This record gives sequence, C-alpha cells and structure tokens, in this order.
Amino acid sequence: MTNQATHPDLYLLGGVSPALEATLAERFTLHRKDPPATTRAIVGGGSSVVDAALLDRLPALEIVAIHGVGYDGIDLAAAQARGIAVTTTPDVLTDDVADLAIALMLAVQRRVVANDRAVRDGGWQVDLSRRASGRRIGIFGLGRIGKAIAKRAAPFARGLHYTARSAKPDFTGVFHADIASLAAACDVLIVSAPGGDATAHIVDAGVLAALGGDGILVNIARGSLIDETALIAALAAGTIAGAGLDVFADEPSVPDALKAMDQVVLSPHQGSATVDGRAAMAALVVANLDAHFSGKALLTPL
Ligand code: NAP
Repeated sequence: MTNQATHPDLYLLGGVSPALEATLAERFTLHRKDPPATTRAIVGGGSSVVDAALLDRLPALEIVAIHGVGYDGIDLAAAQARGIAVTTTPDVLTDDVADLAIALMLAVQRRVVANDRAVRDGGWQVDLSRRASGRRIGIFGLGRIGKAIAKRAAPFARGLHYTARSAKPDFTGVFHADIASLAAACDVLIVSAPGGDATAHIVDAGVLAALGGDGILVNIARGSLIDETALIAALAAGTIAGAGLDVFADEPSVPDALKAMDQVVLSPHQGSATVDGRAAMAALVVANLDAHFSGKALLTPL
C-alpha cells in the first residue's frame, strides 16, 4: 500500500537518467506504466504526450514536470482547466543545444562526417567542402536557444537574420516577417522554434526552394516543423545543398533516404544530452517537485 503522504504516486513518462530515477524514488512511488488514479505527479520528457485522455484518467494529478523545454505534446488548455501545474527546464540546456546547432552547421559545410567515414574506410581523397565562414545565417525562433545560436554564429557570419513572433529591438540581426523571406535572405537556415500546430511543416517545399541550391538547413527544434518528404526531395534534387538534423518527424525512426545521403548529418535528438546539462535538468525537475509538494513557489512554471 502506497503512503500518499510520504511517497505520492508519480508516473514516469519517458526515459530519465538512473540518477534522476533514484532521486525520485526517494520521494515518490514510481510507476512506469498503468499509473493509478491516485497519481499526483508526472515526470516526462520534452516530447512526452500528456493529452486530455490521460488527464481524465488521473483525477488526483497536480503537476507535470517536464525534463526539457518542449511541451508541444501536452494539452496545456486541459491541464490549465484542471489547475494542473506544468514546469519545464529552460536555460540550463540552452548552451548545449546552441553548441550542437553550430556543430551540425560546421559538420555539414565541411563534410566532417562523410570524410570521417572515408578515412575509416581507408580513403584519403578529399572531396572539396564549402567555406563555413562568411555565410548569411538565418534563425527561425529567436528565443533562449536562438539567441545563444546567434551569439555563437556572429563571429563568422556575414549577416544574421531571424524570424520570431515579434521583432527583437535589442537584437542587431535583420527581422523577417515570415520564414520564406528569411530563407531567401540566408545561406544557412537554423530552426529553433517550438513544435505544435502553429509551426507544423512550416519548412515546406517553398521554403526549401527559397533557401536555394547553396543553402543548408539545420534543425535542433522538433521534427514536426519540417515537411520531411519535401526535405528529402529537395536534398535529392539539389534544391538545397545539405542538412544537419537532430530531430525527426517520427523519432526514433529516421527515413532511409536521409541515411543514404552524405550531404546530411544525422543526430539522435541529443541537443541537451551532455553530462552537465542533463544533471542540471534533473536537479531542476526535482527542485520543482520539491517546491510543489512543500507548498512553495515553482522555480520554472510555464
Ligand atoms: P523559447 O525561448 O520559448 O523561444 C522560442 C522562439 O520561437 C521565440 O523567439 C518565439 O518567438 C519563436 N516562436 C514561437 N512560435 C513561433 C511561430 N509560430 N513562428 C515564429 N516564431 C515562433 O524556446 P527555447 O528554449 O529557445 O527552445 C526552442 C525549442 O527548441 C523548444 O521549443 C524545443 O522544441 C527545442 N529544443 C530542442 C532540444 C533538442 O534536444 N534538440 C532541446 C531543447 C529544446 P517570440 O520570441 O516572438 O515569442
């Protein structure tokens, strides 16, 4: 029998580190499947789905603590209607995700992965790559991560361009009202806006055509923002030059067509996956839960 006063029921939705699981187990009774109706907390990842049907099954639920910053899988309206708190782990992962965006951009332009494979296969032939410096860089979504990408890209960019829901007067880059105009103005399009209905397939065939034959797409946001079929067609036809992708439409499944292209660098949704970042994210998840269950203010509520 669970002691709800000392160890409330918690539904663990998605993978967390053994260290976080052990810390949670000191405070909660953990459930990996079939959460009981007495469940008071959910811990999920940035891609976890917490829909109205799940909320209906959990009438005692008080808090959803997300281990990440994406919350496109959460029915926020339903959660808010029931007074359920939702927290994420912003800021502590920003630098890691921005670093990976730059790494993917450089790896695609300088053919780092294709050449690594060639050397491992005994080759020494150098296929000329593209100069990475002096490119016009466009950022779709200039929030925490987008700004961190801009800071890193600025020293070697020829110009910074961006689109967000509103212009940022404190940012020196050029604002574009829509992604097609952004893509037309840049050589590298980096996607760092949230997933969800408002951005679904926003990078479509038209945007890729606007990016152009020398253009490179980098996505560290969500696979849902890209029309993956259109992306594969554009890469195959040379409508764009290459892509660096950390996220995909149907993770962990990655289309074979992308795997076969050496102008593409693939990454297993590892934007925040550093030892340091994951430790800080785990600590923030626990701090939010501790605050909630001791009646204190949440650290990072939505
Ligand atoms: P954030 O601070 O909320 O920034 C989001 C930015 O996107 C804001 O500039 C916002 O515009 C803009 N935006 C939102 N909706 C838009 C729309 N419909 N059209 C154009 N721009 C829009 O979020 P963040 O912390 O930077 O994180 C961004 C995303 O990265 C997350 O949502 C998550 O999906 C993804 N992510 C991926 C990983 C990974 O492992 N690959 C890790 C963490 C996060 P305004 O500023 O005008 O509001």
